[in-house]
Amino acid sequence: METINCNLCGSEEYRVVYSMPDRLYFNDEWFTVVECKSCGLGFVNPRPTYSEIFRYYPPSFYESFEKERVFHQRRYRNQAKFLTGIPMGKDKNILLDVGCANGDFPRYMQTIGWEVEGVEVSPNSKPISDFKIYNQEFTDIPIHEAYYDAITAWAVLEHVHNPMSYFRKAAEVLKPGGFFVFLVTNFESISSKNLFREDLPRHLYFFTEKTVKEYLEKSGLELLRSDYSDQIYSMRPVNWLRYYVYRYLKKHNLKWEDIPLTRIEYFNKNKLNKNLWSNLQYAVSQNPFTLVDIMLMPLFEKYQMLSKSYGIVTYIATKH
Ligand SMILES: [Zn+2]
Repeated sequence: METINCNLCGSEEYRVVYSMPDRLYFNDEWFTVVECKSCGLGFVNPRPTYSEIFRYYPPSFYESFEKERVFHQRRYRNQAKFLTGIPMGKDKNILLDVGCANGDFPRYMQTIGWEVEGVEVSPNSKPISDFKIYNQEFTDIPIHEAYYDAITAWAVLEHVHNPMSYFRKAAEVLKPGGFFVFLVTNFESISSKNLFREDLPRHLYFFTEKTVKEYLEKSGLELLRSDYSDQIYSMRPVNWLRYYVYRYLKKHNLKWEDIPLTRIEYFNKNKLNKNLWSNLQYAVSQNPFTLVDIMLMPLFEKYQMLSKSYGIVTYIATKH
């Protein structure tokens, strides 16, 4: 483990926001999220070092992507929409997808006329042979000029140890007028900050539109627009009503201990299979309040998207 300063502004001053265990693999290992007092960046501190982090990404972490594969076509179409508006040259436009996992998104982009390349650092993802792939950190790829018309990073920047170096590398290899499109969680949302919906310690950084703008500015890029929606990934604000009740009636924020088991955790604990009967059992085991929470959640989510307080944001940036 290592203790770090703010990656964005270098400050050593931060306040503790919350602590929670690794929900997926090591339930007895706890991590703390802090917020920089000077710029507002959120980050895990102390955190596993670069060499320690790999044990938190076992092969099963990547298998979960593989299982969902068939349902992904719609997501790729939605992702591709963020790249419309990039000027087309007389040659094919070139895309670099950072953190491309098994390569399905770049493969989709090939079918709609793009030349594609990918970066994937994990040895646990499937080998790719149908387009150029760099199996190394994005910051280490041997390109040092404005080469790409678009760079995408879907749910990647929250995982890396040094986001600043990623922003700077993107600025270095992006062509003027090209797009850098990236999706991250939103530290301004109650899902991220209060409802324990972040995936610790795989998520190491927590951004807001303000901190994203500062990163872009420091690396010579500019924000064109931001999209707060669940059209690519979702972050359901589970327990949102509970949060407001604690906040306004009990006068304190939720702690990890106040959060009920998720459906999946309940199934695992009671060795149940996923079916209608076990879903019913889960519903009955919850206090009725939780059910109201669940029933009204879609409405609250719509409100979050409209008020730019949803848990997921896609940013579209450019270089001049
Ligand atoms: Zn800072």
